[in-house]
Parts: sequence; C-alpha cells; structure tokens
Amino acid sequence: MTSPRTLLKAWNLQPKKQLGQNFLADPSTADMIVNRAGIRPDETVLEIGAGLGALTIPAARAARKVYAVETDDRLIGLLETELLAHSITNASVLKQDILRFDLKAFIREESIPGRLVVLGNLPYNVSSQVVVRLIEAREGVDRAAMMFQRELALRLLAEPGGRDYGRLTAMLRYCADVEPLARVNAPLFYPRPKVDSEVLMIRFRETPAFPAEDEGFLFRVIKAAFGQRRKNLKNALSGSDLRIPPDTARAALEAAGIDPIRRAETLTVPEFVELSHRIQELR
Ligand code: SAM
Repeated sequence: MTSPRTLLKAWNLQPKKQLGQNFLADPSTADMIVNRAGIRPDETVLEIGAGLGALTIPAARAARKVYAVETDDRLIGLLETELLAHSITNASVLKQDILRFDLKAFIREESIPGRLVVLGNLPYNVSSQVVVRLIEAREGVDRAAMMFQRELALRLLAEPGGRDYGRLTAMLRYCADVEPLARVNAPLFYPRPKVDSEVLMIRFRETPAFPAEDEGFLFRVIKAAFGQRRKNLKNALSGSDLRIPPDTARAALEAAGIDPIRRAETLTVPEFVELSHRIQELR
C-alpha cells in the first residue's frame, strides 16, 4: 500500500476536511479490520467511503466482489488506478453520495447472491444516517464492520440508563447485535484526526428478539421519546410529532407497565416495543 501522503502528492490533491478525509495509513490495521470482518470468498462487500482504497484492496482479495462507493470525483481515477496497480479485478468503483444512494434498489438490481457485508469509514454526521439506512435495508445486509469516531461508537454500544443511550442505540438494539471489533488511534490516519476511532461489528438478526407489530411505528415512538429526552416520557410523547394527548400517553405507559415519569434513556427495547403496541391500541 502506497502511503496516503505520497499518493495524494503524486495526484496533486489535498484532503477535504468536509468529507472527513482522514485516510487509513497503516496496511496492517486495514488487513486486521478486513480479517475481523470475516469476509468469505463467496461474499459481496459494499464499501462506503473507499477513499484511496486502504480497505478496498484487502477486502477485494477476500471477497467475491467489492462495490466501492466514493463521493469525491477527484478520487475516482486515483482509486481505479490503485486497484489496477494491485491487480484487483473484482472491485467496481461507484461514484455516489451514499446519502442519495438507493441501497434497496442496488441490492435488487445487482442480483447479489446472499446478503451484503458492509465496510465503511465515514465522517460522523454521515455515519449515523448510514446506520439508519442499513437498518431499513437490513433484509439484504448480513453485517456491517464500520469505523466510527469513538464518541459515536460508545453511544452505539451503550446500555439503557446512561446519557450515551439514544435513539440510534435503541433502533440498533432492536434488530442487531453490536460489538467492538478494533480500536484505531488517530496517529494511524493521514491527515491525523483529532479523535480516535473504533470499528464496530453490527450483525443484523434475521428476526428481532422482541418483534414489533409495526416496526415503522416503533421507530417513530423511539424518535418521539428521545426527541425531548430531558422530559419525562409522558411529556416527551405528548409534545412530539405523534401528537398523543397527555392522558393517552399516560394510559399507554401505564398499560405497558412503565412509570410515566421515567425518561426515554431508561427504557429497554422490549419496553419500547410494548409501549408502541399500547399506544397503537389507544390511538
Ligand atoms: N476508507 C478509506 C480509508 O479507510 O482510508 C477512506 C476513509 S475517509 C475517513 C472517508 C471517505 O468517505 C472519504 O474518501 C470521503 O470522500 C468519503 N465520503 C464522505 N462522505 C461520503 C458520502 N456521503 N458518500 C460516499 N463517500 C463519502
């Protein structure tokens, strides 16, 4: 692997801060991430934010096929040239903004055998939105090994009861098992970011342990509860977009066995599921 500094210099490019361009500069860390993702030779990888190909190259050596999504058109030619230079013939570079990319249509149209393995290393604001999209498209996604800024990783791993436990944590816990895969410290990137990163493995379950009758509605309840997370649940729900009258919010919470003065961050996933059922009954 040519170092990011050398590659960028050769192509006369400056990293773009607004695209979170801190490139992995350590090949053994890239190999370790791909190894721990457990990619098998019959699996297809969707890599999000391929950059200069640090993960693309080892992933392509392990997988049947890699689709490498990258939004920065300045990097497309560089990435394709790098893949050729490493004799990689089973990777396709897609010039796409992942936030405008129709993942479900892609899975359908490419007739991908089996479910996708997602690899990604994205800026903070983009990665939370990508997690939501992966949850929505999870029928076609087996697992995602994604690098997050440590602060977000800790939120995704949080248990109920603490400040870190939030909307995305509850949504993920509903349908996936999340575990830490590797810590990647700031000096391993070029340019060096201000914060350390953590790779998490998100394994989507075929069926949730506590299935909701209406998953879309469950996610709206979770969003409403965390929308005003400092308020108690009765007030958060009645003041939310769900427009539940305060008495109905109280009745639904009590029917679900939840004290109305508790806050969203104390609710487990089964409690959220039960609450969504009771609200639907009373609405
Ligand atoms: N995977 C490479 C690595 O590990 O060295 C690059 C990681 S770098 C932190 C993030 C990459 O994501 C950049 O190449 C950036 O241009 C790309 N990116 C940022 N926003 C994106 C988006 N919305 N869609 C697709 N790629 C994006």
